[in-house]
Amino acid sequence: MIDLHSHTTASDGTFSPAQLVDEAGRAGVRILGITDHDTFSGYDEALPLARAAGLELVCGIELSTKLHGHSVHLLGYFLSPDRLGDFRTWIADLQASRRDRNVRLVARLRELGVNITLEEVQARGGGMTGRPHFAQLLLEKGYVSSMQQAFDDYLDESAKGYVTRREPQFAEAVQHIRNAGGIASLAHPIRIREDIAAILPELCDAGLNALEAYHSDHSPEQTAFYLQLAAQHGLKVTGGSDFHGAVKPEIRLGTGRGGNLRVPEDLVERLRASK
Ligand code: AMP
Ligand code: FE
Ligand code: FE
Ligand code: ZN
Repeated sequence: MIDLHSHTTASDGTFSPAQLVDEAGRAGVRILGITDHDTFSGYDEALPLARAAGLELVCGIELSTKLHGHSVHLLGYFLSPDRLGDFRTWIADLQASRRDRNVRLVARLRELGVNITLEEVQARGGGMTGRPHFAQLLLEKGYVSSMQQAFDDYLDESAKGYVTRREPQFAEAVQHIRNAGGIASLAHPIRIREDIAAILPELCDAGLNALEAYHSDHSPEQTAFYLQLAAQHGLKVTGGSDFHGAVKPEIRLGTGRGGNLRVPEDLVERLRASK
């Protein structure tokens, strides 16, 4: 089994890198991509453990970008080790912009009468504190009754607590991945708010070279549609569960939601061969 989309405690997952490597063994995943948001630290920590466990680990990352004013997630895979240095310097900037946003988000929520501190959020965030950790804290403190309500009432782009952060433009992020020798894949295309078929030519012009056709949020019909779009535009295909652990317990590593995910066994070979 293959799963090229997963998160650890280095971003907003609840499994540590070591626990994720164990879980891959239990689930029968033979090739695992770790794609933490804006950081490689989960991958770095998992690498020696995966080697020891006989698990093939794929180096990945999930970047938050801006496209036509909306947040769009972009996956990067197979970055060349010798060109990773510049890329790591660039993502250090993204991490700084996130920290700055978090300071302002705490201040904004306090204005709205929510009694939280930066330290409390960071304690839930591990390496990379993001809005999901704010949602978790709001839930724990009883300001909301679910993570989703935390987003709807406070944290979503359209909610009263939202504060902006400097996010790279989609094209800029694609270029950074491609310059590092990587494959740039549009994550969970089902979440794109625009007509994907209409905007795909523009994304391909920006250097996008893959589409995440297989994902836990896709129905079989949607997967078929994305496979056809990828073929039509000469894009490679990626896929994975988007496993986050206990915060999204309905999604299982390797098999997705209720077994709805099946990433073809030769997907990684095909990606490598086409690089
Ligand atoms: P951040 O990168 O810290 O701004 O947090 C972004 C993450 O928050 C995304 O990856 C999603 O997991 C989550 N998120 C953003 N908007 C929503 C929403 N409206 N409902 C649920 N989760 C959301
Ligand atoms: Fe996430
Ligand atoms: Fe995502
Ligand atoms: Zn993800």
